[in-house]
Amino acid sequence: MDKLTALFQKQKVFQKPAVQERIRILQDLKAAIKQHEKDILQALAHDLHKSEQEAYTTEIGIVYEEINHTLKHLHKWAKPTRVKTPLTHIGSKSMIIKEPYGSVLIIAPWNYPFQLALSPLVGAISAGNAVILKPSELTPAVSQVISTIIKHVFQEDHAAVVEGGVDVSTELLKLPFDYIFFTGSVAVGKVVMEAAAKHLTPVTLELGGKSPSIVMPDADIKLAAKRITFGKFTNAGQTCIAPDYLLVHESIKEELLREMTACIRDFYGEHPETHPHFGKNVSQRHFDRLTQFLSNGTIVTGGQRNEQELKIAPTILDHITWDDPVMQEEIFGPILPVMTFDSLHEAVHMIKARPKPLALYLFTTNKETETYILDNLSFGGGCINDTLMHVATPYLPFGGVGESGMGRYHGKDSFFTFTHEKSVLRQTNRFDFSFRYPNAKNGLDLVRKFLK
Ligand code: NAD
Repeated sequence: MDKLTALFQKQKVFQKPAVQERIRILQDLKAAIKQHEKDILQALAHDLHKSEQEAYTTEIGIVYEEINHTLKHLHKWAKPTRVKTPLTHIGSKSMIIKEPYGSVLIIAPWNYPFQLALSPLVGAISAGNAVILKPSELTPAVSQVISTIIKHVFQEDHAAVVEGGVDVSTELLKLPFDYIFFTGSVAVGKVVMEAAAKHLTPVTLELGGKSPSIVMPDADIKLAAKRITFGKFTNAGQTCIAPDYLLVHESIKEELLREMTACIRDFYGEHPETHPHFGKNVSQRHFDRLTQFLSNGTIVTGGQRNEQELKIAPTILDHITWDDPVMQEEIFGPILPVMTFDSLHEAVHMIKARPKPLALYLFTTNKETETYILDNLSFGGGCINDTLMHVATPYLPFGGVGESGMGRYHGKDSFFTFTHEKSVLRQTNRFDFSFRYPNAKNGLDLVRKFLK
């Protein structure tokens, strides 16, 4: 038996820990993360040039929040729930038991390599599962720290990290896991779902796509500029829910672009491509792919490249059409194409004609506009008058719809994602209605009275 299968088999027979034990383990996990905080920050700086502020806010802090929230609510979530019993079932009691799926595979991406590996792990562990976690091969320093932390906290049959690239992932996907949680690209999401289908394994797919930011003439332009700049260029644009492109009302385009240009300078200085707080692109391949987009439309600001450090300055591209290469795929980098519209109806039409976005951001002060967009467009989640912030609360379920993914997690939804809700009816033996049996006299008449 190869090593992966042996590990899988060990986890397959893992006995689910009692809720109190899960709580103890999650506390240990939090303590181990605290103990390794410096290593995590160093690894994130090494792999992605993340500044300490960005790394703490978007990676470590979010995981602490997820653990804290889970610790606070786990007893309540994990308790069997009593539900009503209809008159037809009189005498019996109905309950829903929260049962872990069993063995879980989590495959994580490189862009938030710590948070996107650990957050789903917290959910899977809180629900009582055993987990194999495969971090991304593109962020090896972070992957190694995660492996150290997991080894420190868990026995191998409970949670283990398996490092490696596509080959390892492919081997893992051949195993009959009870649940697969995947975060990554749409293309690989399809590979995962196909592999899962062979074993009828349920999946959560946290994918990507092109997320629009719509800016209306009645928006607070200065604030919109600041918040879009923040959302787009955090982690050098390598955020699944980053505004991928701007849809701005023609009448305010010049003003918005002027404000955004000023914000970029305020955030990252005159030379963002060498600024220590501005992130790098993860690999030469990603850097080269992004470089090709720089010749699309006309550059409003940015365009400077620092090949040695794999950095491209925050760039805004104007005069873009849907036919430009930059509009054919998720950008996933510090390049923001700008398109305009004259009427809200036109903007909605453009978005509706394309795959459902993972996120959508609307900047307006008009309630009717807000309602119109929320009523007429389907997207995973988003914000009115902000970007990214909906991902950072444990009270909002996070996930995609259509091509941007399926399933949701964070907070309570993480627990329930990794939980099978087992419905059980406990019947009374004190009496037994005979009318349901085939030999009952007038049985059908009685059944008809109840079920009509
Ligand atoms: P990716 O799909 O290339 O890789 C993700 C993971 O899958 C990695 O661990 C990788 O080793 C593995 N993998 C790659 N190819 C595989 C294959 N053929 N078979 C099996 N496994 C394979 O994604 P990425 O480049 O790491 O991340 C970027 C993408 O992820 C973007 O599209 C982004 O929008 C998306 N993303 C989504 C979310 C979300 O929460 N919805 C979060 C972050 C990133």
